[in-house]
Order: sequence, then structure tokens, then C-alpha cells
Amino acid sequence: MQVSVLASGSKGNATLVAMNGAKILIDAGISATRIKKALAAENVDAANLDAVLLTHEHRDHVAGLATLARWYHLPVYSRRKTLASLPISIQQAIADASRTDTLVPDSLFVAEDVAPYGATKSLLHPVDGAFRLAGLRITPFSVPHDAADPVGYRIEGDSTVTVCTDLGFVTQSVAASIDGADVLVLEANHDAELLKNGRYPWPLKRRILGNHGHLANTDAAWAVAHLERRPRDIFLAHLSQENNRPDLAKETVSNILAGQGIEIPLHVTKQDEAVRLR
Ligand SMILES: [Zn+2]
Ligand SMILES: [Zn+2]
Repeated sequence: MQVSVLASGSKGNATLVAMNGAKILIDAGISATRIKKALAAENVDAANLDAVLLTHEHRDHVAGLATLARWYHLPVYSRRKTLASLPISIQQAIADASRTDTLVPDSLFVAEDVAPYGATKSLLHPVDGAFRLAGLRITPFSVPHDAADPVGYRIEGDSTVTVCTDLGFVTQSVAASIDGADVLVLEANHDAELLKNGRYPWPLKRRILGNHGHLANTDAAWAVAHLERRPRDIFLAHLSQENNRPDLAKETVSNILAGQGIEIPLHVTKQDEAVRLR
């Protein structure tokens, strides 16, 4: 099992989970060129990805998706509302990639019978509950965030990996969904004091601090402390470059956990560099 957070933060997110022979990318929020290079550094050819799972449609999670679809014709999974909320340019690029994937030449179709588009096997896969993909069981779970239908993912094979970023707070159902994972990728977006005293305008501060914003370092720590079955490794993800610092995020979370007698290795993810666990 390999988890490589290729990039994480408000400027772009992408995570590779490789398990049981399957290779899955969660979010494609950095350029396709960067994704291709970052995957190559993990010894993964982007063309061999089994799928891209999207958490939500915000730009820092989908920016590289159109080009990635054009190059590799990868199937894309997410909630229906998220797929429908993708920028039109991305939807068009994926539709074009779907069309070139068709195995039946358009000329074989009788116009009034089946339109050429009928031959298209869409690369967009709307999902609601758990589904199987390349031998893995994948469960999307809803998270509170200001997007159409944002989710985290629980990915189960020989091991269990949960990816949970971009959420205002940890609901009971989120807690149940991330419980019992071997590896947890969890948002530690900001230090509440840094944010409150920082230079962001108040409406933006209010958005981040709100129930549909982003998770504070302390909230991430307490979410872990309250788990029944805790992970053996944690990635702290989606750190704000403005309202957090890697050392502060790590220290805050580890201090709260230590106070509860808990010790778990913390891996702080980066915006411009991959952080991995094999
Ligand atoms: Zn984000
Ligand atoms: Zn977001």
C-alpha cells in the first residue's frame, strides 16, 4: 500500500493511493504536467491510473482535470452534483475524451436509430454510496463544505485509507467514516488564532471558520482523539500558507494527542512537494 500526497493546500490538491494493484488519484487540482511528473517520481505512469476520484468541484481540486482527461481518458468518479458543477470547459474536455474512447466507429450508426453520441461511454461516473473499483471498495462520505456535494473517500483493500479534507467540522457521520482506517489524510487547515489575527478580510475569515469552511488544527486533533480505532499514520493536509505553519500544525496536533496519551506519526503535507508513505 502506498499513499503519496502529491500536493496539498489551497493552491492545488492531488493524492495517489496505490493498493492491491490499483492506482487511484484523489483530486486533480494541480496541472496535468505536474501530476504526470509527480506520479513518475512515485514510479506510476499516469496512463495506468485506474480512476480519478473528485472530492468536490473547487478549482484547487480540479484544475488539472481537463488536460488529464484529454491525455489519458481516465474515468472520473464523484457525486452527480459535483460532476454537474464542474466548469463547462472541464465537462467538455471529458466529453471529448469519452467520445474518442468509443470502440464503435460513428459510421456504423444509423442516424435516426442511435446518434453518434449514443456510442459514447461517458468517462463521468456519478456515485452515491459504496462502489467497487479495480478490486477496491470505495465509499464516498459527505462532508460539510461550501460546494455542491462535497465528499471524503474511504478506500478499502488490504488496508484502509481515508481522505478527508475541505470540511468545516467533523460531523458524527464523518467521524464514523474515518474511523478504523490504517492511514488517515485529514485536513489541518489553520490555526484559529493566526487566522483571526491575520490579514484576511472578515468575510473570508468567517467563511473559513464557519461550519462549511475548513478544519482547524485543534479540530483535526480532537477528531483523531475521539476515534474509536485510530489510524497508524496521519497525513495533515490542506494547510493554509497564510494561516498555518507546518511546525505549528504538527505541534498543535501532537500536543493534543499526547495530552490524551496518544502517539501517532504525523506527516505534514506540502503544497509544492510530494509527501509519501509506503
Ligand atoms: Zn480545497
Ligand atoms: Zn474546497
